[in-house]
Amino acid sequence: MTKRGWIDNPSAALKIGEGFRLADVDPDSTPGYRGDKHSGAKDLASGFEELDELQERLFADSRAGVAKDSVLLVLQAMDSAGKGGIIRHVVGGVDPQGVTLAAFGAPTAEELSHDFLWRVEKHLPKPGFIGVFDRSHYEDVLVAKVRDLAEPAEIERRYGAINDFEARIAASGTRIVKVMLHISPEAQKKRLMERLDRPDKHWKFNPADTDDRLLWPDYMEAYQAMFERTSTDFAPWHVVPADSKWYARLAVQELLLEALEDIDPQWPAANFDIEAERARLEAS
Ligand code: AMP
Ligand code: MG
Repeated sequence: MTKRGWIDNPSAALKIGEGFRLADVDPDSTPGYRGDKHSGAKDLASGFEELDELQERLFADSRAGVAKDSVLLVLQAMDSAGKGGIIRHVVGGVDPQGVTLAAFGAPTAEELSHDFLWRVEKHLPKPGFIGVFDRSHYEDVLVAKVRDLAEPAEIERRYGAINDFEARIAASGTRIVKVMLHISPEAQKKRLMERLDRPDKHWKFNPADTDDRLLWPDYMEAYQAMFERTSTDFAPWHVVPADSKWYARLAVQELLLEALEDIDPQWPAANFDIEAERARLEAS
């Protein structure tokens, strides 16, 4: 069943399938959604209320010690594609005590001395939580491949290690929502230029982003290989066109909603005698 302006379930519209080609996805399209920026804003607000309640139920279960499930949102993208906006405008709407956020930059010396999954494992969401990865273990098959930070054989090993890792966490109750925000190089240029034009955005600019930009085709190739090797039934990839920020936010919100609806968290039952407590409070 679909709702709001969605004509297709967002997961169905955005999940990559057999024969998927990243090059065929138009970053300026709005798959599965019938509507514009204006209706998108209304739908985002309505979806937000649902997300807020589902997340509160999930978190309540964790407090009551009965939560088994969690959600892990993995965000991957070229710079300026809007990861930060998703975190602020989609995830940022729910109660922060039920959210764990981890951003992964270039690994430290200590992290490099361990297997690439070591630093990621530590940040997996506990039952009852929504975890968000702003970049992830996938950098180890993206930037690592593009910049030759690891041997090809090691990159090959990592695809398999990632699938084993994700199978394990999915089996333990984590819904893994993997999203690549797909921006066009033209839109990225505009956004990076704006970061240079505006003093309040200089902090977001990193000269290395332009270096990555020059390697665009290599990155797209690495993403394509990543999709082919690590999109699984238990943790499929979704490619979300991201030239329209409003669409990307709406789409990721719906993917999160689908994951939470699948968990279907229930308000935990009281672990005390309600009538007795009512009487005691009355008399106090
Ligand atoms: P940002 O997300 O814009 O703060 O940038 C973080 C930077 O860290 C990006 O340039 C990533 O490519 C880089 N990074 C993240 N993970 C890794 C990794 N495992 N190996 C090398 N670079 C990484
Ligand atoms: Mg950046």
